[in-house]
Amino acid sequence: MSYQTPRGTYDILPEQTPAWQEMEEMIREVCRLYRYTEIRTPVFEDTRVFKRENDSSDMVNKEMYTFETGHDSYTLRPEGTAGVIRAFDQHKFYGGRELPMRLYYMGPMFRHERPQKGRQRQFTQFGIENIGVSSPEIDAEAIALGCSIVKRMGISSVKVCINTLGDDASRDAYRKALKEYFTPHIDELCGDCHRRLEQNPLRILDCKADADNPILAGAPSLRDYLNEESREYFRRVLEALDALGIAYEIDDRLVRGLDYYTHTVFEVKSTRPDSGAQATVFAGGRYDHLVEYFGGPKMSGMGFAIGLERLLSLAEEEGWTPKNSEKAQVYVISLGEVGSVPLKIAETLRKEGIAAEVNLVGRSLKAQFKSAERNGAEVIVIVGESELKEGKVNIKNSRDGQQFTVALEELITKTKEMLG
Ligand code: ATP
Ligand code: MG
Repeated sequence: MSYQTPRGTYDILPEQTPAWQEMEEMIREVCRLYRYTEIRTPVFEDTRVFKRENDSSDMVNKEMYTFETGHDSYTLRPEGTAGVIRAFDQHKFYGGRELPMRLYYMGPMFRHERPQKGRQRQFTQFGIENIGVSSPEIDAEAIALGCSIVKRMGISSVKVCINTLGDDASRDAYRKALKEYFTPHIDELCGDCHRRLEQNPLRILDCKADADNPILAGAPSLRDYLNEESREYFRRVLEALDALGIAYEIDDRLVRGLDYYTHTVFEVKSTRPDSGAQATVFAGGRYDHLVEYFGGPKMSGMGFAIGLERLLSLAEEEGWTPKNSEKAQVYVISLGEVGSVPLKIAETLRKEGIAAEVNLVGRSLKAQFKSAERNGAEVIVIVGESELKEGKVNIKNSRDGQQFTVALEELITKTKEMLG
C-alpha cells in the first residue's frame, strides 16, 4: 500500500524548511518591532465561530471542512480572525487590558478549494489583529507592517490596492442601490450571484466567474454612497499612508471575500505578469461587529493575513534565498580504534554552540572525508588511533586545506579560531 498527501496539501521537505524558518523568524522579529504578540488558538472551533448568520462569503458557504462529533459541529479554521476575536471575548481582553490589543498568529488554515498554483487546501497564514480602537492611523500602520515583511523577503513587485466600504449607513445605502441595479440583470450573472443578490449584493462585485462581465463594470460605485464621516476616515488613512511613504492605488471595486469588513479594505498584490491565481499576497481590513458578535462590547478591530506559501514563492521568484545554513561546522572523523572519543569531542563542540557531525557508522576514511564535504563542514577533526595515544588529534581547515596536530585540551580553542 502506498499513500500520497491529500489533494491540495503538501509536505515541506528538509530542503525547504530553512527558508520557512527564516521567513517565520523574520516575521516574528517584525512583530516584535511593531509590538504585536502571538496568540495561538485551536485549529478547529465550533462551526458557528466561522459560520455567522447570513454570511454570504464563498469561504463560509463552500470552502469549509466541517465535521460532526455527536451533536457538535466543528470546523477546521479557514481563517485566523474569527478564532482570535473569539479568544479576545472569551478571555474578556476588552476589560482591563490596554487597548488596542495587538495580536498575531501564524499557522495552518484549511479551505476546500480547487487546488492550483498558489491555492492549496491546507495553507499557512500569518496575520495580525489590532483590536479595541478604531483609527485611520492604525489601518495605515498595519499596512506598513505587512509591507515591511514583503520587503524583507526581497519582494519589490507588489502594489497596495485600497478601498473603503464606509460605515454601516453608507454600506446599507450602497447595498440597496446595487440590489436595484442588479435585479433586472440577474439572469445574466452566475448561479452564485443569485444567492449573493439576496444575501449581500456587494459580494457580486467580488465574483470570480463574472469578473469580466460588463454588467459588473456598469454597477454603481460605492464612492457615491459614502457619507461625510466615511470619506473623512478614508482620507486620513490615505494621508497616513502618504506620510509613511507607502504607494497605493485606490480600487473602487475592491470589496474583499469576507462579509465582516467596514471602512478600510486592502489587498497587496504581486505585479508579476505570471502570478495568476496567487496574485494576492496579503489582504485585510477593518471590522466593526465581530467583537460584539462573540459576546463582547461594540468594539472595532482591524487585521490582515498573509499567505505564507505565496509570500515565499514570490520571494524565491525574485531571487531570495535563506541565509540560515543547515551545514555542519565541524565534522569529526575516526581512524582506527578510537572508541567513543569522536562522539565525546562532537558533544563538547555542541556544548560550545558549534554544529558538529560525527561519523558513527564505521565508514572508510575516504567515505568519511566525502561525507564531511557533503555536510559542508568548515573544519574537520581527525581522531586517529596513534595520535590519540599521545593525547592529540588532527584538525584540518577545509577552506585552505591546512592541517595541524593539536593536543586534545586545545581542540576547542583551535576549532573556534579556524571557524573565525
Ligand atoms: P483569494 O481571493 O485568492 O481566494 P481570499 O480573499 O480568499 O483570497 P483571504 O481570506 O483574505 O484570501 O486570505 C488572505 C491571504 O491568504 C490571501 O491573500 C492569500 O495569500 C492566502 N490564501 C487564501 N486562500 C489560500 C489558499 N487556498 N491557498 C493558499 N493561500 C491562500
Ligand atoms: Mg478565497
